[in-house]
Amino acid sequence: MSHNLGLSQKFDPNYGIAVEINADVRRIVANNPGPMTFKGTGTFLIGDRHLAVIDPGPDDDEHLDALLKAIGSATLTHILITHTHHDHSPLAARLKQITGAETYGVGPHGLRKTEYTSSVEALGLEGSGDMDFVPDNVIDHGDMIEGKDFRFECVFTPGHSANHMAFALERHKALFVGDLVMGWSTSVVAPPDGNMAEYMASLRLVHARDDTIYWPTHGAPIEAPQRLVKGYITHRKMRENAILDTLSQGPHKIIDIVLKIYSGLNPKLHGAASLSVLAHMEHLHAQGKVDFEGALSLEVTYWLA
Ligand SMILES: [Zn+2]
Repeated sequence: MSHNLGLSQKFDPNYGIAVEINADVRRIVANNPGPMTFKGTGTFLIGDRHLAVIDPGPDDDEHLDALLKAIGSATLTHILITHTHHDHSPLAARLKQITGAETYGVGPHGLRKTEYTSSVEALGLEGSGDMDFVPDNVIDHGDMIEGKDFRFECVFTPGHSANHMAFALERHKALFVGDLVMGWSTSVVAPPDGNMAEYMASLRLVHARDDTIYWPTHGAPIEAPQRLVKGYITHRKMRENAILDTLSQGPHKIIDIVLKIYSGLNPKLHGAASLSVLAHMEHLHAQGKVDFEGALSLEVTYWLA
């Protein structure tokens, strides 16, 4: 499914160790590997004496200890949140309590309200939302976040979640991309919180920027990032075409499309793949290419409009 993207599974997580990426940036990976998190959540620390943390990660004692040890005698002033999935934001609460740093994010989880059937929410990654996080500071596209040792530009990149923000570190022409783009896999876009039209717009937005390196939350840094983003866009277009091709053979339900176009997929990921196809259906329907009766859901039958 991803052979044409040049993805790589090479990545040593060094759990609990603050790995120096360059003079300004360190990364500590939490020991929470899984099909969605790869080797685990990579938390970034930026600065020397006055630090910012991006995505503290899951509420995990060992990871908290590792972060506090890496902060040491420096002062943590900013906690930046790319989005409110369970592997990104929950530890912000305890880290803030201990250090007094303020949190920055787009807003609480579930900004998008849509009329999906309960089946989508049951299957959905709604369980993966951190419903408790509320940012101290609400950030918007183009905002600058400045500390003594760093300066970030906020790049609003919804689609993977409705409240996804990337952070550009100007000095390094680098973009902390959260889960927008990853070097080891494609990113999950799952309704109702995820939205394919927004996701594609976010890919086009970052493709037009001139960042020279991406630091995603999961996996290794991405060099030549525009090439990968282009590949991501092409990959989604191919998936869209595969769905339209399948529907040209007659009306289909989502699971039957999944079984046809994701051959060889780990059955554990059929739920995620179904939601991804649903996200494409929503997008195709909005473009007038696909139709169905009733409410958009995993159960209904879809056909070409
Ligand atoms: Zn996520």
